[in-house]
Amino acid sequence: MRVLVLSDIHANLTALEAVLDAAGPHDAVWCLGDLVGYGPDPNECVEQVRSLPELLCLIGNHDQAALDMIPLSRFNRDAGEVAAWTQQVLTEENKNFLHSLPSKIVFDRFTLVHGSPDQPVWEYILDPHTANRSFDVLKTEYCLVGHTHLPLIFHRLPEETITIIMPVEWGEAMPLTQQMILNPGSVGQPRDRDPRACYATLDLEANTWEMKRISYDISQVQLRIMEAGLPERQALRLMAGW
Ligand code: ZN
Repeated sequence: MRVLVLSDIHANLTALEAVLDAAGPHDAVWCLGDLVGYGPDPNECVEQVRSLPELLCLIGNHDQAALDMIPLSRFNRDAGEVAAWTQQVLTEENKNFLHSLPSKIVFDRFTLVHGSPDQPVWEYILDPHTANRSFDVLKTEYCLVGHTHLPLIFHRLPEETITIIMPVEWGEAMPLTQQMILNPGSVGQPRDRDPRACYATLDLEANTWEMKRISYDISQVQLRIMEAGLPERQALRLMAGW
């Protein structure tokens, strides 16, 4: 079974469509949260994700903000402003869908969370030290995470308590070994200074993980951000991959 792994779409329909086109057919889709926030297309993105085959989908912190489940004071000014706008424009049906999403899914060899196994919605796994603590509480071989918008692979060395960051080989199917935390990067707002959308394919039979990038027409999204009256900085950062 080939699984398309997506995270942090952030209401960027142009990036989502580019990823779905480039990825082609998959047997299942796992989406690691933050479907909305920052971007101008929250309803369109939720509706597109809802239509994907064999979907497993998590709730992220920006999805919770759009549902008024957490105070907007926990966000920076721009993110809070877009979250307030998203609350206004999201349809009841799409809110209900987001409300139905779990914060953690554990099955077989995988744990799926937006943030970390310890704090599924809020903790950022940015460094080997935090990843190492996550391995301590992880009850499966692998953990798929999003939230940081950074494509990252952490591996805890066998028989040890040392965690390392593994280099990303774009477009190469990497064999999975035990004890890995895998972040596919962000579809709609990459933050590694490369503006192209990120996604990954997980092959459950071959036991491989492949990370990919795809260019999309950022100017279209910038235009919609400005038309919706959202903060200009959110449009500018897309071009900078930040
Ligand atoms: Zn996010």
